Amino acid sequence: MKLHFLGTGAADWPNPGKKVGEGRRMSSMVVNDSLMIDCGTMTMDAVDEFNVDVNKLRNVIISHPHGDHFNMNELCAIAARRDSALPPLSIYVNKKAIERSTIPPELANRMTLIGFEPGDVFQCDNVKVTTLTANHELEHPGELAAHFYIEFPEGKTMFYALDGAWFVPDTWRFLQKHRMDFIVWELTCGNLADWRLWAHCNLGMVKLMTDAFRFDGSIHDQTVMFCSHLARTLCPPADLYARELKTNGYILANDGLVWEG
Ligand SMILES: [Zn+2]
Ligand SMILES: [Zn+2]
Repeated sequence: MKLHFLGTGAADWPNPGKKVGEGRRMSSMVVNDSLMIDCGTMTMDAVDEFNVDVNKLRNVIISHPHGDHFNMNELCAIAARRDSALPPLSIYVNKKAIERSTIPPELANRMTLIGFEPGDVFQCDNVKVTTLTANHELEHPGELAAHFYIEFPEGKTMFYALDGAWFVPDTWRFLQKHRMDFIVWELTCGNLADWRLWAHCNLGMVKLMTDAFRFDGSIHDQTVMFCSHLARTLCPPADLYARELKTNGYILANDGLVWEG
């Protein structure tokens, strides 16, 4: 398994341009070089800076249509960069959001939008994606946010939990019965009791949900847990926070982080 974090910030980070430095870009990661999860504003700069081979990308799954996770301009730029002889890039996004998403005619054969609703299960080549309702508010009527439970052909599983607060009961019931080898937690609010807690998490919430997973037996001693989607204005400095998170069993994801194993 190879996890490559391209963007690990919440929506309050300024655009760093070509070099991210100590900053964070908007949410995006690539798993096993072929599956992209979320493609927010600035993702193309991350693709360039971290040398992502776009010809290896086959599918993109979008957790929810907020601009820091779903940006059609960036997706079009990726599709245009890929070799034109490749099959089109498949992009899975909330069904309702497709109504306000347009593929330009010149890219009609290079990318395709496929709608889903939370609860749907689909295959991205040999990867199985179960979409679960996320406790996260969206502005456009009818649009919904999802978390992803992803099963890879080598038998490993990953739970991707950007963005959302406490899990809704159906999501929790599903997760109780499924093993998680990797978790990408969202940690927008750092250690603060901020008003954004009603759509996001702080560390206290993440720790309680981790304990509950452990009690249920759905995470184990080898489960690798990352924290991502940190808000610039709410989280402690990265070096300090990485140490605090490590003592609690979490890896602080930074832009460009590659985890292999
Ligand atoms: Zn977000
Ligand atoms: Zn969001």
